[in-house]
Amino acid sequence: MKILLLNPPAPRGEKFTREGRCTQQSAIWTTLWPPISLVYIGTLLRDNGHEVRVIDCPAQDIDIKDVTHIIRAYSPEAVIWSVATPSITGDLNLSSVVKQLNPAVYTIVLGTHVTVLDETSLEQSPSLDIVVRNEPEITIMETVTALQRPGGLSNLTSMPGITFRDAEGKIARNTAREFIADIDALPFPDWGLIDVNAYRLPLSNRQFLMVMPQRGCHFPCTFCTSSTYYGRKLRVRKVEAIVKEIKEAIERFKIRDFFFWAETFTANPSFVRSLCTAIIANNLDISWVCNSRIDTVDGELLYLMNKAGCWMVSYGIESFDPNILKGVRKDIEVSRANQVISLSREAGMLVSAHVIFGLPYETPATARQTMRRVLDLELDFAQFYCAVPFPGSALYEQAISEGWLDNIAALDFTQFRQEQAVMSLDTITRAEVEAVRAQAVREFYLRPRIILGILRLTSLRHIAKTILSAFKFFRAAN
Ligand code: SF4
Repeated sequence: MKILLLNPPAPRGEKFTREGRCTQQSAIWTTLWPPISLVYIGTLLRDNGHEVRVIDCPAQDIDIKDVTHIIRAYSPEAVIWSVATPSITGDLNLSSVVKQLNPAVYTIVLGTHVTVLDETSLEQSPSLDIVVRNEPEITIMETVTALQRPGGLSNLTSMPGITFRDAEGKIARNTAREFIADIDALPFPDWGLIDVNAYRLPLSNRQFLMVMPQRGCHFPCTFCTSSTYYGRKLRVRKVEAIVKEIKEAIERFKIRDFFFWAETFTANPSFVRSLCTAIIANNLDISWVCNSRIDTVDGELLYLMNKAGCWMVSYGIESFDPNILKGVRKDIEVSRANQVISLSREAGMLVSAHVIFGLPYETPATARQTMRRVLDLELDFAQFYCAVPFPGSALYEQAISEGWLDNIAALDFTQFRQEQAVMSLDTITRAEVEAVRAQAVREFYLRPRIILGILRLTSLRHIAKTILSAFKFFRAAN
């Protein structure tokens, strides 16, 4: 089958990474990630005899008009694309654009939002054929192969992991699919399917690629959608396979910067130790960054990670209020944050933190206290968010049952953006949440130490671009 895989464009020229639990909008210190799920899917489909084209529209500055030209010229039999909550309206509308061009093309979407709101998405989008739920690769490969046989959609009645519109037009929700037991059974992602030149680290502008060393997260944080995409069980790859994949990427693309894409990379410290030891033993000479939790690292592990090339680690701190952390089931001893950040710096790494304002039990006082405590940490970067109950998280269910969302019958998901508060809690207003977030951004970044650190990382050729992005960022944040 001839298949087009898309990370679709968004309205108003916004650029979204749509990847599992992360919907990230490109800005000054966030960047578009190579679309690893689409590349995995594309590689698997191609290896199974399908003709595939992968297009990351935001990265290529491709708008919806360009997409129609591409579909006309390429003439695919199926179009498959990733969707995200804040861009969901446009994402789902793409199905009618595709069907208007050719009603025979199968339209298929994937992502955490549609995994949870599968039936609603199909009801709202009569041109959408199939929703792929949870981890997508094997489900898509088997679905496309089944569609190719005579009978098309009627071959899908027992296909696990999808919700679809059957041949009579009725919506059918099939059984769930098990998460892939052996993720090493997937092929290495073939980055030749996309233009790797489009992906650059913020500030330094160096090219980078993603490596997926593991999937799944056993932690139960209620605001997170990771378990919807990759499940609760941690599944790690074989260290030798990861090293081989990195070696091939270096050889083929001359890229030595990587983002180790894992929910919590350090969730299994002994795996991290083995991987870092192998990276060092193989002289890979790479630079990489990862996400972590403060309760999964120690000085020795951080030192080894840095020796293996890790130059920045990002910790999910979320809040400094123990009640709030308990309420969202982020079971960390946040009083250790200072010590872990110092250990990370001593190991030679830059440190970033993620902070969320407006979680349940937040008050103006707890929000201000969190902001003050974060400002006291020796961080290099911080991402400040408003709490958003994304579909696929336990917080979404809680927000609905507690009546924290307005107009539940017709939720405006375009408002579900992490710079915007959408929950009406009894303890803090939305305006207060947004105000403290804006203040935190200002007070954190407008400090000489942070500005100098950013300038040190910025390549000379990109200083003007960085200053312009910073200006836009502060205007949007305030
Ligand atoms: S530790 Fe919590 S926030 Fe981080 S990926 Fe796991 S569930 Fe999500």
